[in-house]
Order: sequence, then structure tokens, then C-alpha cells
Amino acid sequence: MSGGGGGASLPSAGTDAKKRRVSYFYEPTIGDYYYGQGHPMKPHRIRMAHNLVVHYSLHRLMEISRPYPASAADIRRFHSDDYVNFLSAVAPTLVLPLSDDSRRQHKRFNVGEDCPVFDGLFDFCQASAGGSIGAAVKMNRGDADIAINWAGGLHHAKKCEASGFCYVNDIVLGILELLKFHKRVLYVDIDVHHGDGVEEAFYTTDRVMTVSFHKYGDFFPGTGHIKDVGFGHGKYYALNIPLNDGLDDDSFGGLFRPIIQKVMEVYQPEAVVLQCGADSLSGDRLGCFNLSVKGHADCLRFLRSFNVPLMVLGGGGYTIRNVARCWCYETAVAVGVEPDNKLPYNEYYEYFGPDYTLHVEPLSMENKNSAKDLEKMRNVLLEQLSKIQHVPSVQFQERPPNTEPPEEEDENMDQKPHSQLWNGESYDSEPEDIKPEYHDTTMDDCSTVNSNIRTSNDSNHS
Ligand SMILES: [Zn+2]
Repeated sequence: MSGGGGGASLPSAGTDAKKRRVSYFYEPTIGDYYYGQGHPMKPHRIRMAHNLVVHYSLHRLMEISRPYPASAADIRRFHSDDYVNFLSAVAPTLVLPLSDDSRRQHKRFNVGEDCPVFDGLFDFCQASAGGSIGAAVKMNRGDADIAINWAGGLHHAKKCEASGFCYVNDIVLGILELLKFHKRVLYVDIDVHHGDGVEEAFYTTDRVMTVSFHKYGDFFPGTGHIKDVGFGHGKYYALNIPLNDGLDDDSFGGLFRPIIQKVMEVYQPEAVVLQCGADSLSGDRLGCFNLSVKGHADCLRFLRSFNVPLMVLGGGGYTIRNVARCWCYETAVAVGVEPDNKLPYNEYYEYFGPDYTLHVEPLSMENKNSAKDLEKMRNVLLEQLSKIQHVPSVQFQERPPNTEPPEEEDENMDQKPHSQLWNGESYDSEPEDIKPEYHDTTMDDCSTVNSNIRTSNDSNHS
């Protein structure tokens, strides 16, 4: 399979060797977008992952597409008109201070420190969302078994505001596209942070089931309590698995596999979307789990084994050398090969020293998830899953409405102590392209604003 300087990949061992038709979306300019100096979100990691994919010759085993940019109209299928107008017009401010009007707008749409206004912001959103919508279209046409968009997975973005480094929710847009041809869509999120934006968008419908595994407690965004299970027609169609620091491969697999097995049995989705946020990996700059790349990729391996059309998206991931490793390996799992652990020479080789391997050892850190707690949680979740039926009873409307949590669960929703994902500390430990700092706003007003948009709850189902 490998020739010249290309990396070696062997056909994957095991019982599930059947090939899948894989469609991979990649925008070549994606790595040029830059959130700003010291900001942990680095689109460059997607280019690094792609570079490894190419040097392992994985691109020869899939169809590669450059996404069409999502149009403003596409984005309005979920996001509010005001917010999309703002995103499409806003530009980095070169002269300070901001006008009162700009300040008001920034505050209203929650742009500032976590979600800065950077050069080309809307183009970046269009590329990210265009990839996920394009992936959905491929799946709708039956032209792919697995569709990958590493520039997607931006799960925190809300209908009317930015949140947690995310502006446009490509996942919601991709799922809305899938719903044109698929009765039930399962969304699974293994980012270390709760998949709040996607959960909120589909909280009151049974046509999308959301399942999020995440760190809970004293952590962004503060939602994702085990008792948050959906509302109205969506009751029991949201599943939250709150976890603690130091989660290792065995603990994770011991929860993920039985829960997802049961979800697949009872819900019988016609399509699955997997958000592969890589900040759940060991040693992540913002995360606190201790998963290896193999443990992380096991989620994809397991979901792939059900032979249901699968969309695979990126998400968080802030130790970028490991993000690239992870998403490259997961691309290999998708196409069904086992890449050589020795990294092929590539444009970003210096990032991967001193070992220059694809896999890295997890850290020796305490796993604060006790076997007893995990077993208890598994039982609670399996019990909850036994209450659901797979047949949706209602039609779905074009743009998901705002949703409001039920009264009795307000205690969980109220505690949102983590309005920011990143504490603003700059500690770049990895080489990166040096870009001029064009933007040094002090968005003091925005840093504490993260208003809960679960406001008007119009009737969701006709
Ligand atoms: Zn995250």
C-alpha cells in the first residue's frame, strides 16, 4: 500500500474487515484561519491531520471532496437571521475602543474572548458547515457509508449566539439535512465537553437522539447532568453521561459499548453522527481525561460495526499534535486499515518528537471514576433507555425552536458557573505559524455573558 516515502498501512485485522465507502471533506485553506495569539483553538490542527492522512496514503482509499461553502441561507436553517447577518458582516476591529454599538452587538452574540472576531470568520464557518452539510448530502444520496469532516463538530454554537470557540453549529445543520431522508438520527458526542448546542436544538424531538459523554462538575459549559433527558416528545431522547477526571480507556469502553449497543437496539437510527472531539485525549491542554488514541477511536470502530450510515466530525482538541494523530488514526479506522505506528515523514514532522509515533502512551494519573460509580451509572442509563421507543410520532419542522427545560430541572440548568471554556491564559507549548496580532480587544462585558437562550417555547410539534 505504501510506496516511496508514504507510510505503511495494513488491512485492519479482526472480524469487521468489510470495506466501507468513505467520503472525506477537506477545505485546503482551513488551516490558515487563526483565532488569535495564544488562543487554544487552532484550525491548523486540521491541516496537520490531513497531512498525516496523505502521508499514510489513506486518501487513496476514500473519495476526497472540497466542500461547497454553506450559504447564509443554509446557515439560517438553524441560526437566527440577526445572528447570521452579524456573522457575515463582522470584521476584526483594528482601532480601539469599539463603538458602543459594536460592543452591544458583541455582547449580544457572545463574541469576545472565547469566541473572538478573527479575519475570515464567516468564511471559516461556511467551510466548516459546508463540509457537514455536504457529508449529509452524500449520505442522503446513498453515495457514502461513512462521511468525514474534521473541520466540523462545533457543538457549542447556539441558535442566536456563539459559545465555546463555536459560531455556527455545523452538526445541527448536518443533522437537519439528514432528517430530509432519515427518520431517526443518533448523535453521539465524545468531546470532553458536553454537546450542549446540539442537545438544546433537538431537546424536544424524538427524531434525533443525543448521547453525550463528558466531564461534568466545575467544567465548561456546566450542562449535561444525568437527569437531563429531554422534554416533551423528546423525553428520554437525550442521554447524558457525566464523568470525572482521569477517565481511562477501560472505564470508557466499559460504558460506551453497552450504552451504545442498547441505544442502537432500542432507537434503531437510520443514520449516526459521531462528534470526535479530541480534547478527551490524555494530555489535552484543556481536557482532563486520560484516553489513548486507540481508546478514543474505539468509539468509531464500534459505531462503524453496526453498518448504519455514519457521519464523523471533529470538535475540540487543543494539544494539536495529538489531535492530528487521533483524527488520522480515526480516518484509518474508517477506511479499515491499521497504520504503522512509525510516522511517515511529513510537513509537520517536528511536532511529533521525540517519539515520532502515531500512538502516545496515556499519562499516569488517577482515574477519579470509580468502578462502583461507573457501574451504578451504567445501570441508571440502561434503565432509562428501556423507556424509549424507536418510532418517532411526529414530523419535524425546518428550524428547531428554542427550547425551555422543564421546571423541575431548573436546578441543573441554573448552575452555569462556566461561562468560558478558556481562561485566557496563553501558554503555547507547540510551534505554530506566527501571525500578527491584529486584535487586542478587551471584551470585559462579554466575558461573563452567556445568557441562556432557552426562552420562548413555542409549541414544537404540529
Ligand atoms: Zn471540547
